[in-house]
Amino acid sequence: MTQLNWQQQPIKLVRSNKRKTIGLYVKERQIEVRAPHHVAVSELTDFIHSKQQWLIKVLAEQAQQITEKPDFSVRRHIPFIGKQLKVQIVQGNKLGWRDEDERLILYAKNQEKNHIHHLLADFYLTKAKYVLHNKTLDLVSTLNWQHKLTDIRFRRTKTKWGHCTATGRIQYNWLILMAPESVIDYLIAHEVSHLKHLNHSEQFWQQVQAIHPSYQLDRKWLKDNGHTLVL
Ligand SMILES: [Zn+2]
Repeated sequence: MTQLNWQQQPIKLVRSNKRKTIGLYVKERQIEVRAPHHVAVSELTDFIHSKQQWLIKVLAEQAQQITEKPDFSVRRHIPFIGKQLKVQIVQGNKLGWRDEDERLILYAKNQEKNHIHHLLADFYLTKAKYVLHNKTLDLVSTLNWQHKLTDIRFRRTKTKWGHCTATGRIQYNWLILMAPESVIDYLIAHEVSHLKHLNHSEQFWQQVQAIHPSYQLDRKWLKDNGHTLVL
């Protein structure tokens, strides 16, 4: 088998008869070429060289993302509603987590990154279902808008912190629990205000401000720091 390379990096080659054209992909810094069976290796090499600038750019971007991603094998604190919880890992057969005031104990099989991430995700999602849910219901009942809210859901989304539909369903990205409490409260005020105004009109922002007077500061915080709230 011919080994394809680009600047000493091995390239994964996937041949398929279904393909009509050559495609170039980069996933987690692994370059992959997909091509029909009949395309010669020399042609693939030419194609890869014609995409050099793109490859350099994408690989640099991905390298940056990887260094920004916290590594829990070295990271021993996690942000949680404005606090830093000390993470302790207890290795054994028992799986799960327990939180105390300033501490989160993870019961884990091993210290493998994906396994630890899975437990942490479960911790944040479980807390979100309690904290965000209750805060939202409290606010909605203060405003006497119970009839407007139909459902609250939790998801980890890439680009959005919250969402509200015309049918009154609010959705939160549970990673928001990594933010300070006033930022969390701002997000809730924002989504709840959409129950009345399904837009970002002046009336909408007036509603947000009436609920959460420091909304401008917290909104800015989220804009500036939202990208750091990652697991
Ligand atoms: Zn909005």
